[in-house]
Amino acid sequence: MSDSDTTLFGKIIRRETPADIVFEDDDLIAFRDIAPSAPVHVLFVPKTPIASLDAARPEHAALLGRLMLAAADYARREGFARDGYRVVVNSGRDAGQTVFQLHLHLLAGAALGGFGA
Ligand code: 5GP
Repeated sequence: MSDSDTTLFGKIIRRETPADIVFEDDDLIAFRDIAPSAPVHVLFVPKTPIASLDAARPEHAALLGRLMLAAADYARREGFARDGYRVVVNSGRDAGQTVFQLHLHLLAGAALGGFGA
């Protein structure tokens, strides 16, 4: 088992830890953040364990594209796209990354202030 397989998000993917899952397909899972920073705060996570954006490689390009498009599709489907939304990827400690399995934050549902997730 690699390090990423033991992250919290790996446990959510394997249903070992409960989460409010809003989307899933073969490659990605999305669930509500447990400590939301906006009225809508959903985390989109590739099932392929990649520790951070810094660890992503050219072979992950299609998966990263799918990650972005899945968030955009969700925002459109749920009606947030018209008013706007933000996506954030924290990479590394100084950015505030706390779970070392690459994930994208989708924030929406209000006028958002400065940067952050
Ligand atoms: P990061 O800081 O690594 O970019 O984002 C990790 C996110 O995971 C944080 O926004 C945090 O609130 C969220 N999180 C931490 N523990 C849990 C949990 O047990 N369940 C869910 N759904 N989200 C979590």
